[in-house]
Amino acid sequence: MGLQCLLVSITVCVGVLAQAERINLGIYFTSMSTEESIKPFHFIQNIIKADLEANKYGGRVHTRFPPEPNGYLHIGHAKSICLNFGLAEEFGGHCNLRFDDTNPEKEDTEYVESIKEDIRWLGFQWHGEVHYASDYFDQLYQYAVDLINAGKAYICSLTPEEAREHRGTLTEPGKNSPYRERLVEENLDLFIRMRNGEFPDGAHVLRAKIDMASPNMNMRDPIIYRIRHAEHHQTGNKWCIYPMYDFTHGQSDALEGITHSICTLEFEDHRPLYDWLIANLDVPNKPQQIEFARLNLNYTVTSKRKLKQLVDNDIVSGWDDPRMPTISGIRRRGYTPVSIRNFCDAIGVTKSNGVVDYGMLESAIRDDLDQNAPRAMCVLNPLKVIITNYPAEEVEYLELARHPKTEAMGKRVVPFTHEVYIDKADFEESPPPKFKRLTVGGEVRLRGSYVIRCDEVIKDSDGEIIALHCSYDAETLGKKPEGRKVKGVIHWVSAKYCVNTEVRLYDRLFTEENPAGNHPDRDFMDFINPDSLIILDDCKAEPSLAQATIEQHFQFEREGYFTVDSKLSCKDDLVFNKTVGLRDSWAKIKE
Ligand code: ATP
Ligand code: MG
Repeated sequence: MGLQCLLVSITVCVGVLAQAERINLGIYFTSMSTEESIKPFHFIQNIIKADLEANKYGGRVHTRFPPEPNGYLHIGHAKSICLNFGLAEEFGGHCNLRFDDTNPEKEDTEYVESIKEDIRWLGFQWHGEVHYASDYFDQLYQYAVDLINAGKAYICSLTPEEAREHRGTLTEPGKNSPYRERLVEENLDLFIRMRNGEFPDGAHVLRAKIDMASPNMNMRDPIIYRIRHAEHHQTGNKWCIYPMYDFTHGQSDALEGITHSICTLEFEDHRPLYDWLIANLDVPNKPQQIEFARLNLNYTVTSKRKLKQLVDNDIVSGWDDPRMPTISGIRRRGYTPVSIRNFCDAIGVTKSNGVVDYGMLESAIRDDLDQNAPRAMCVLNPLKVIITNYPAEEVEYLELARHPKTEAMGKRVVPFTHEVYIDKADFEESPPPKFKRLTVGGEVRLRGSYVIRCDEVIKDSDGEIIALHCSYDAETLGKKPEGRKVKGVIHWVSAKYCVNTEVRLYDRLFTEENPAGNHPDRDFMDFINPDSLIILDDCKAEPSLAQATIEQHFQFEREGYFTVDSKLSCKDDLVFNKTVGLRDSWAKIKE
């Protein structure tokens, strides 16, 4: 304990020192790590450091996380959350939560609530109230009117097909819309009538007047307002015109006093438009957009739209299915906030797109649970063992450490009785060479208990093994057996006192490393792994597990890390999700 306290205080000191020093040194000590580790600044930290030194925003750092509430957050969003909230924490600034809610048909308050919950669960708290882009619809409307008045926006009445023809291609410039030179009065009149609901969806759009010959397609008179007769989850039926994302985002940033508007690389080409709008509108603050590479993970998809397809097609049981790469899914699977934050820290922040191995995410949770999950025994595929020379009514209450290294976690009581269960995989009638577990005539140690020898195999009329008759060596509790070596140690539970549980094993959701990649004529849904869930409903757990609570984590000895499912478990009927194996099984897949 003493040593631990000392370590904690050293880490705290290092943290405080780092806080004071890092801006000058350009290095910092990661706050996640218990050991001191020096990590160079990534490019966004460097930009912020330079801006602070130049007093660019009066010494302020204000970021935001801007999800669209059209689905549940996924592991990619976790990277963005850790980055935006992390930078604010690190540089003594603020981070807003703003829902980018400009697509009323696709959005829902269910998603708003889940997103708030996921952010809090990850351990972050947004600054002040939750913001909605829809809070600014009045102001955005006014900005649009300002652009019209300045001759910098016009109502275009081309049909979508005509507009496409006018747009040009990557190699050819676009053509001006015949409506481009409409007079300000006419534009204003039409815009007001659009707002008043006089036109059907698609009849007109408001476009910024920039440059149809720009090599950047985003600058070819982009649409900034369109008609949508749709009810909005925040503003109800107040509006039937909605601003486009590009017209909303930067202005919302400006209105909230955001300094560094961090987004993923696909918005790099939108930056000139972001800057054009900020420069051409009378906004209270001029934020800067900075792009970084999104997180892509192999064997899964990170797109809300695609994840929604999995939910809508009942491929999974919901957004929080433990196989989903959503924050709520991996949480239910057994991931902890600290493991996700450590993972995001480990993958770093760069400008080059790549694919991260799923094994890295798994190793983050394995590291956390190895240190923090109590140990327990649970037999997944039970085989009864009758210990013929142990009295039928006797019980011995053995005390086993909850954690091999952390004594402070205490002990649990494991009863030893005449009948126990072992796992079917731990017995072989015809063992392969070097098989260290139980064989006929062979010996094995029951973890934390006695050495037993298998004397007889009991089979049913079909030849299936139904039980083993074994004898125990009473001299081997906590002692090596006399005159011989017993190498194998297996887990077990008392047949009389065990608790019946269900255990769910998971495999990757897709059979293809990059399911959403470029596969001619194939959809990502074609690569669903049909065997991604195995339900074992006759597992036998040691009695201490009867006290397990929702979301509690355990290492089931020799099996892996497991977590009590938060949805399917009831008080006397626990369901455990396998979070991750003891070793990297992904390495095996790639062989
Ligand atoms: P999706 O395609 O899954 O819907 P999105 O980018 O449309 O993703 P938003 O709700 O708009 O989702 O994203 C909120 C924030 O999270 C944005 O700043 C976005 O850039 C960031 N983000 C989304 N996906 C990733 C990812 N895979 N890696 C890092 N950041 C991401
Ligand atoms: Mg989006």
